[in-house]
Amino acid sequence: MKTLRTFIPAFILLFVIAPLLLAQGNNRSEINIPNLPGYVTLKCDFHIHTVFSDGNVWPTVRVEEAWRDGLDAIALTDHIEYQPHSKDVPTNFNRPYELAKPLGDKLDIIVIKGSEVTRKMPPGHLNAIFLKDADKLKTDDWRDALKAAKEQGAFIFWNHPNWKAHQKDGIARWYDEHSYLLENGLLNGIEVLNGYTFSPNAQNWCLEYNLAFMGDSDVHDPIRMEYNYMGKQRRPITLVFAKEKTEAAIKEALFAGRTAVIFNDTLIGKKEYLLPIFNASIKYNKNDIVLKKKDSFSLQVTNQSDLTYILSAKNITEEINCTHNVTLLPSSTSIIEISTGKESQSGRYTLVYQISNFWTASGEHSEITLPIHIEVE
Ligand SMILES: [Zn+2]
Ligand SMILES: [Zn+2]
Repeated sequence: MKTLRTFIPAFILLFVIAPLLLAQGNNRSEINIPNLPGYVTLKCDFHIHTVFSDGNVWPTVRVEEAWRDGLDAIALTDHIEYQPHSKDVPTNFNRPYELAKPLGDKLDIIVIKGSEVTRKMPPGHLNAIFLKDADKLKTDDWRDALKAAKEQGAFIFWNHPNWKAHQKDGIARWYDEHSYLLENGLLNGIEVLNGYTFSPNAQNWCLEYNLAFMGDSDVHDPIRMEYNYMGKQRRPITLVFAKEKTEAAIKEALFAGRTAVIFNDTLIGKKEYLLPIFNASIKYNKNDIVLKKKDSFSLQVTNQSDLTYILSAKNITEEINCTHNVTLLPSSTSIIEISTGKESQSGRYTLVYQISNFWTASGEHSEITLPIHIEVE
């Protein structure tokens, strides 16, 4: 988010921050999230600032950070209307992209040209990405700025709708201006997560209006100054389920709404995308279990992904008891104890768990039926 910060002179950037970044070495942390059938899962951050607006980082450093963080694509989205460094860095809306793109090509990071249209609420701040000429977004009326973006084929999303500088109570509100955007094809997604801030209303509007779920860092300082990677924390990531790893395929997937948001252990999105991720992550040591009365079995569940799944049992009955709470840690195997009682009736049973860290609607978590058949003799 826009914060009023004093300019950090170039020598601090060169002699303090750059050596700190270099000290972290040339290592890329891969994030293993399974692909969905027919798509590749791309890890993206579509809201990033540089010295070309109120950020404190040169554009190429954003590419290096993305590479180290295991990302596939980023959009640089400096503010159009807020240029606090203009005395030292000339206003040039296309320049961050031009500077970052060659390094992106070298490191296989897709760099997307974007801008943040920065107006008071309503309508607030909106990012336009896949721009051809960002200069065209400098207009008096925000409607003209977004129309100019749309004419270039841009994907437009509403940033941080519950930002406290816009909404004192931290609750996102829908105004007539947002209906105007929607009706005119000028709103294609909403940030349900911006930095550390989640918006339940944004989640509901994405579902109601079929808009893409977006989750971005909105980073201004070096990424490690805003997210504590020592504690295994990651920046928010928008997962894009694209037909291939190209800019055109990302654009197609965003307009089709094939996204989900990940922040640390939490995944936010539509059930239809989250459940296949779970299914593709998990392996069992046995699918068909035959139990006598007063019997038990240790089901071994292997999580092959880098995600954590927090499960709680939904269908514990008199017939079948199973471990109530199970945390499936990345690249590890956990045990679900299944047992029958003396009085258990014969029959066929399946296990149903809720995935507490899958948020598929406000206050709702996804349920999943494990493909485990238990036959009680
Ligand atoms: Zn903003
Ligand atoms: Zn921003």
